[in-house]
Amino acid sequence: MEESRNPGKIDIKSLTYQETLEYVTTLGEKSFRGKQLYEWMHVHKVPSYEEMTNLPKKLREELKEKTTYTSLKKVDCQISKEDGTRKYLFALEDGNVVESVFMRYKHGNSVCVSSQVGCRMGCRFCASTLDGLLRNLTASEILDQIYSIERDTGERVSNVVVMGTGEPMDNYDNLVRFIRLLSDEHGADISQRNITVSTCGIVPNMRRLAEEGLQITLALSLHAPNQEKRLELMPVANKYHITEAVDACRYYFEQTGRRITFEYSLVGGVNDSQQDAKELAELIRGINCHVNLIPVNPIKERSYIQSNRTVIEAFKNKLEKYGINVTIRREMGRDIDGACGQLRRKHISMT
Ligand code: SAH
Repeated sequence: MEESRNPGKIDIKSLTYQETLEYVTTLGEKSFRGKQLYEWMHVHKVPSYEEMTNLPKKLREELKEKTTYTSLKKVDCQISKEDGTRKYLFALEDGNVVESVFMRYKHGNSVCVSSQVGCRMGCRFCASTLDGLLRNLTASEILDQIYSIERDTGERVSNVVVMGTGEPMDNYDNLVRFIRLLSDEHGADISQRNITVSTCGIVPNMRRLAEEGLQITLALSLHAPNQEKRLELMPVANKYHITEAVDACRYYFEQTGRRITFEYSLVGGVNDSQQDAKELAELIRGINCHVNLIPVNPIKERSYIQSNRTVIEAFKNKLEKYGINVTIRREMGRDIDGACGQLRRKHISMT
């Protein structure tokens, strides 16, 4: 059973459909009560037990006493005037805050969720990691980000990317539980094909993920064409060599048949030369993949700058010459605190 962060209490929204039915029967109720409960949580996505009007009052009281029902408080929401992107800051029960982003695309609405409070990976260009890791998020707290945004916007979310603050492969069990809940047909029912998990390259867990029998997209934050340059940007490369991370992607494709995404943040004068593009093409040759080029989002704590437009275009063209599928990521919500972790940091430094 899922112990919640409150000792002795069950984290009810992190239970799978089957576990919810079983739990409710241990309280002496018929299992259809479990079905009703699951629907309130994951179909209607209500923020508390009070709304669950067709559950007997006695059961609701008992649940309140014995379980934790997580919910998030909206602390801030910045709305882009350019493209309607919304950046949310949510407070968790313990007062910690996390960021989530809502984006509208032609193919549907997408939400970017955080998987941890802070991060301990130390990527040099990233704001989320500057204060280290505070704690993991539970499956329910990752789900709550999506549910709260659906309530706030009144719109359905069809795509989810785990690309907010935190390293999902450093919170593996909760992440996998979250994915199973999010794609469960009894509940939120978001297609696994519309879920992407991004990792800085924790190799053993990438391989484990390949064997879970999921159909999600795996994205590797590569950001460099060779080990030497990657080490300068990403300390995780000390632990897992770039070739091991790329091999784990090959394995992921073999196991799942899902095309890999490589993310590559272009940093002016650091990883954006024609030679870098050539080496990158050679590194990932033969992998069924897509490369996402992201102009780095400068953070004030570091001196990294964006590559200029012509350099970015030339980098893209070079990869295409090698037959690699590549896009330049549209920068959504540029007029609001764009880069990962910036809104949260601003909030923390003010309080
Ligand atoms: N920890 C995971 C997911 C979170 S970060 C990972 O590393 O993949 C999501 C993506 O944003 C990663 O590719 C990350 O490297 C990138 N990123 C972080 N800060 C950035 C910045 N300032 N500019 C551009 N991309 C950034």
